[in-house]
Amino acid sequence: MRQAYIDNIERIQKARILDQGEKPYDYSYDHRVDAYDDFFESADFWLQKQALAQGFPPCFIYFRSDDDVNAFAVSKPGFKRIAFTHGMIELIYDYYRQQEDLLNSAEFSDVHQALAQFGNPYWYTFFQLWQMFVIYHEYGHLVQKGKNAEINYREYNSGNVDNILESHALELDADFLAASELARNIMSAACDQNGLLAIDETELSTLCSVALASTFIFFMKVAGQHPSVYFMDKEHPHPYVRLMWVTNILIDTIIKSISGIKLDPKTCTLKALEIADRIMDGDYKNPSQTFSQEMTIHYPDLLNHLTTIVQKMESMSTLCYNLHPDQLPV
Ligand SMILES: [Zn+2]
Repeated sequence: MRQAYIDNIERIQKARILDQGEKPYDYSYDHRVDAYDDFFESADFWLQKQALAQGFPPCFIYFRSDDDVNAFAVSKPGFKRIAFTHGMIELIYDYYRQQEDLLNSAEFSDVHQALAQFGNPYWYTFFQLWQMFVIYHEYGHLVQKGKNAEINYREYNSGNVDNILESHALELDADFLAASELARNIMSAACDQNGLLAIDETELSTLCSVALASTFIFFMKVAGQHPSVYFMDKEHPHPYVRLMWVTNILIDTIIKSISGIKLDPKTCTLKALEIADRIMDGDYKNPSQTFSQEMTIHYPDLLNHLTTIVQKMESMSTLCYNLHPDQLPV
């Protein structure tokens, strides 16, 4: 367990800001200790960089010993913290770990080629892409109500929502920041020092599809609790809506940033769905059950709801979506 993590926990405990009954997770005896260290280091490095650039007080990241799946973003004067439950990390880590043989199989040879540069087992890169997405998403919640706002945000809140449209707007806004940042991660892997593409466009497209698939899979695992498509319900928009939005933002950010590039959103999305579908289902014999087809059936209504949420976002001036790029992560 990293010393910086132990220091973070000590500071948080001294400041007496933990929720009632909350226990930070001591992962030193967890067999996923290296993954926790990686997760902590990536998040801590990125959050400290943002704090410096944006004049935020330091933001502490830690894990909670809870077994349920949840994430928290808390902002009080002089102190910000982001926490992920042990249950959440375990769910996704163990899930991808179990998919190791499938992800190593020859049918994913294009995925292997795109991920080779990361030097990690393929399943682990999927886990890392998801991990960065959730870190960015929680940070989005800290930014979106203004630098000095006090928030105590619990990602999954048993469906207690006062204003569903506003809640969906806040979630898609956090996804906006997460998808833009994930796009920047992809670009730093795909481009040379001059910002020119260093891999071919097909490989870039596959890389985008892998990043999208890693987030789709989490959405879909959570969506497994929602057997039918919903619209004005729950604290988060339905995973299909999030999936459409995240795809738009990620592809759009890359297209706008790399000059002369051709990246077809439809190809990326279909490939991402194919990867997610294959990993999650492992069975093409009954494709009508797969979410990609469900999504096709509901597409007009999903698009309508997405448009309604984006209109709401446009009316909320402090959201990440409405900030000048200078006020967003560096
Ligand atoms: Zn959220």
